[in-house]
Amino acid sequence: MNRLPAFALLFAFVLSLTACAPAEDAPPNIVFIFTDDHAQAAISAYGSPYHQTPNIDRLAREGALFQNCLVTNSICAPSRATVLTGKYSHLNGQLTNGQLFDGSQQTMPKLLQQAGYETAMIGKWHLRSEPTGFDHFQVLIGQGPYYNPPIRTATDTTIIEGYTTDIITDLALDWLEEGRSGEKPFLLMYQHKAPHRNWQPGPDHLTMFDDTTFALPPTFYDDYATRSAAAPQAIMRVDDHLNANDLKITPPGNLTEDQLETWMAAYGPKNDALKETGWQDDELDEWKFNRYLKDYLRSVQSVDDNIGRLLDYLDATGLAENTVVVYASDQGWYLGEHGWYDKRWMYEPSLKTPFIVRWPDQVDAGQINESLVSNVDFAPTFLDMAGAEIPADMQGKSILHTLKNGTDPDFRDAFYYQYYEYPGAHCVRRHYGVRTDRYKLIYFYGIDEWEMFDLQEDSDELNNIYGSADYADIQAGLELRLTELREEYQVPEDTRPIPDEECTYTVGWMGYDAG
Ligand code: CA
Repeated sequence: MNRLPAFALLFAFVLSLTACAPAEDAPPNIVFIFTDDHAQAAISAYGSPYHQTPNIDRLAREGALFQNCLVTNSICAPSRATVLTGKYSHLNGQLTNGQLFDGSQQTMPKLLQQAGYETAMIGKWHLRSEPTGFDHFQVLIGQGPYYNPPIRTATDTTIIEGYTTDIITDLALDWLEEGRSGEKPFLLMYQHKAPHRNWQPGPDHLTMFDDTTFALPPTFYDDYATRSAAAPQAIMRVDDHLNANDLKITPPGNLTEDQLETWMAAYGPKNDALKETGWQDDELDEWKFNRYLKDYLRSVQSVDDNIGRLLDYLDATGLAENTVVVYASDQGWYLGEHGWYDKRWMYEPSLKTPFIVRWPDQVDAGQINESLVSNVDFAPTFLDMAGAEIPADMQGKSILHTLKNGTDPDFRDAFYYQYYEYPGAHCVRRHYGVRTDRYKLIYFYGIDEWEMFDLQEDSDELNNIYGSADYADIQAGLELRLTELREEYQVPEDTRPIPDEECTYTVGWMGYDAG
C-alpha cells in the first residue's frame, strides 16, 4: 500500500541512520489522528466484542491507552472547537453544530506556530468558518461525502475521485513527504470523516462480516423505566429511526459508474434477500442492527488500514522516533446500547472517546491509564509537549504528568459536562452534569429532571438512583461538586429559549415501499 518509491524510502532510511537523530530536547512532532463518532467499543484495544483494529491497537501497545477520556459536549463541531481552544463550549462560543466557529480566537495551532511549529490540517474540519492557524490546509466541505470528495484549500476546491478515507491519508502523506518545509517541528491534524453516519464502507470492505451475525446488545430493548422523561423522547433508535440510505437499501448518490457497479455487486444480493422476507420478518430489528453495525465497522476498518499506512511511513522515514502520535475521536457513539445510534447524551458510550498516545522514550509502552482526562486537555497537553507556555485562560490541563507516570491521583476528581443542542437533531434534551470515577449526576435543565448512577454497580446506567436514601450523602456531595465546577469554569445560565412545541426530527424507514 505504501505510495513512496523505493529509492525515497532507502534515502530516508540512510538519512535516519546518519543525520536525523533528534537532539535530546528537540520538540517533538505531533500527529493528531482524529476520527468522527468512533466508539471505544469499536476498537479491539478497548475490548471491542465485534472486530479487530490492528493498527490502532499497535499504537496502544506502543503507547498509553486512556480508559476515561471524557468529552465536554458530545457532538461534532463543539468537540472540535474544544480541541482547538482548550476551553468549554460556553467560552469558545461553539455550543451547537449550527454555529459558526470564531476562528479569530486563540487556538492551539496558532500558539504552536508562535512556538516555532509548522502546522497542517488535512481532512474533516466541520467548523464552517475558514481554518485559521494552519500553514497548510486541505479540508472536506461540511460533512463531506464518503466517495469522491471536494477538497478545499486556501485557494481552490477540487473533486478527488476515490474513497475519502484513503484520499485524506494520501494528502497527509503527500504533505509529510513534500509539503512541509522540514525545517521545523510540525503539528499534523489528520482528521477523518469516518465512521460518521451514514457509514459507507470503502470498496475493499463492502462484504466484510457478511458471514457473521452479531447479537443485539443486552440493553437494546431498554424501556428507559427509571430515567426521567428525557430518554424515551429521543429519536435515535436503530429499530425505528434509520432511513433507506443509512441501511443501504439505496446506494450513495455520487458514485462513478465503476464504483456503483462494485457497490451493487456487494449490496444487491443482500438487499434481494431481505426483500424476499417481505420486510415484515420478525427478525427485522436484528437485520437493521446488523446492517448498521457492519457498515459502521467496515468504515472503521478503512480508517485502521490507513493508520497503518501512516505509521509505516513514520517508521520508514525515521520520523516515528521524535513524533507523538495521538489517536482520538470527537466523541463516542452508540452501537445499539439503549437501542440507539448517535451520541449527545452524558451516558458512558457517548461521553467517553478513544484516546491513545504514543511517544517513544517518553511514555511506557502498553500503559493503561485511568485518569479522568478530556478533549479539553488536548490543547494544553500539546503545548506542554512542545515546551510552549499554556495560557491561563485555557480550561483544560496538561496530561503530561499522568501520561509519563501512568497514573496521577490528583489529576481530576470530577468532570463537568454540558449538552446544548435542543431543540435539534434527535431531540436530546439539554443537560449538564458531573462524573467522578464512580458516580454520575445529570440535570436535564429544560425539564427539571435529575438522574444519578453508580457506575460500579450499574455500568449500563439503567437504574436511576437520584433521590435514593441509600445514596443521600453521595448525592449531596455530587450536587456540591457540580455547583463548584460550574463556578470554576464560569458557566453561565443557558438562557436561550426552549420552544413549547414538541421537538420533531424526521427519520425512520422513510416510508420506503417494499414493492
Ligand atoms: Ca462526531
